[in-house]
Amino acid sequence: MSKAVGAASTADARRLVFPVLQPTGSRRLLQAGFLEACTKKQIFRTERQGCRMELIIYRGTHEIGGTMIELKTRGTRILLDAGYPLYYKGEIIDESWVKKPAKELLELGVIPQVKGLYQWDQPKFDAVILSHAHSDHYGLLKYIHPKIPVYLTEAAETLISLSLSFPIPKFRMENTMIFYMEKPFQIGDFFLKPYLMDHSAFDAAAFEIRAEGKTLIYSADFRNHGWKGYCLENFLQKAPKYADLLLVEGTNIGRKSESLPSESDVQQKVEAILKDSEGIVLFQASTQNVDRMISFYQAAEAQGKFLVVDVYVANLLSQLTRPNYRLPVPGGRYRAMKVFYPFPLGRLWQTKGREILCSFLPFIRSRISMRKISKKQKCIVMMVRPSMLSDLKKIELDPGDFIYSMWQAYRGKGSQVRFEKYLSSLGFQSHLAHTSGHASEAAIKQVIAELHPKRVIPIHTFHPEAFFAFSDKTEVFQDSWVIKV
Ligand SMILES: [Zn+2]
Ligand SMILES: [Zn+2]
Repeated sequence: MSKAVGAASTADARRLVFPVLQPTGSRRLLQAGFLEACTKKQIFRTERQGCRMELIIYRGTHEIGGTMIELKTRGTRILLDAGYPLYYKGEIIDESWVKKPAKELLELGVIPQVKGLYQWDQPKFDAVILSHAHSDHYGLLKYIHPKIPVYLTEAAETLISLSLSFPIPKFRMENTMIFYMEKPFQIGDFFLKPYLMDHSAFDAAAFEIRAEGKTLIYSADFRNHGWKGYCLENFLQKAPKYADLLLVEGTNIGRKSESLPSESDVQQKVEAILKDSEGIVLFQASTQNVDRMISFYQAAEAQGKFLVVDVYVANLLSQLTRPNYRLPVPGGRYRAMKVFYPFPLGRLWQTKGREILCSFLPFIRSRISMRKISKKQKCIVMMVRPSMLSDLKKIELDPGDFIYSMWQAYRGKGSQVRFEKYLSSLGFQSHLAHTSGHASEAAIKQVIAELHPKRVIPIHTFHPEAFFAFSDKTEVFQDSWVIKV
């Protein structure tokens, strides 16, 4: 194999790959600049009328995932996130439940009862605003009334569209409005300013929200130990201090593994495994976790190996990359990246013909065949998932290494167990290289300490009571309670 192009240092790579996102176009660009311009009058007007703002957390006061928060003023009703739950009665939710009819999901409480939100109701919400493209924040979108506009970033729209639709080319979500980081926008009485945060989902946002003279901050999911850890500093510097209310996530509170390695530590661990491996290295990571893809790409490049991804991932990276935030995409300067066409996608190619060809064509030049993978096993780091088992069987794998790089809770599922058993029967050695996409206790305390909010409401946590030790401003509520702001 040809040696991969010179590996940049980690610090260089961070600069190259992750500058802070900038607005890239005018397509459905939201009206910006409200705070600086005329809308000060409107803020004053709503202030004079007094605050009647109400907050309802439909899910998340004592639970991780499935976030849904309503904010309501005299004249405007918005929903922050529309998440599908991760748990049901304390257990990881059964994936197959997604296919159950909405009526049954409503009865089970998977879809919370919210009047005026869903497609079977008269629409009474002015907007749904999505913080990021994790299904525990957008998974109920398909039940939302189509007349209610959905506000999200361009990258979140791409990620959601692809995960819902791939491989239907040019699929677009309907009725969406694109917002840009640090560009404020208005929805009725509400003025929102999004901030880019470091999280395991690409392009995640926190929000500063103002209405009726009150200021709220919603952290959504965040951390500061990933490649974009600097985003937390930026947010803490610019977000308003002494806000009336802070909604802050607490995913890692109460979890045993309190020491959270950085994304850079994960990359170093992967590099060490690659260095010692005498065969192919297979790894499993979330396709939404672009940071992790970067870590594996950089590790493979540093060790002079090829990173092989399937055409779905290649297409996703290609659609997310922009001149001002480059990601490794097969072809061009990223010669260490190769594309594999799994059999089921090949079959779709046959059935869908030209349409599907459009998504596949850009990567043909970087294509690597099963035969070549089979011949060059020692030079390959390949992203896999259990659905690729039948393809892997055709590669005739020699013993190698398998790196699991995702949340461990997903590891007990049937197809995952069967997949790992197969690899182990071939003599694969299993490793774990992962870190949480969520904030450490220290990062949560830092947010509270530096923002000085008047009230702190924990969300996205199983242990809200733990926040009493972090701040005497903590208030804990139950799901669906009406909270006066
Ligand atoms: Zn979440
Ligand atoms: Zn998330």
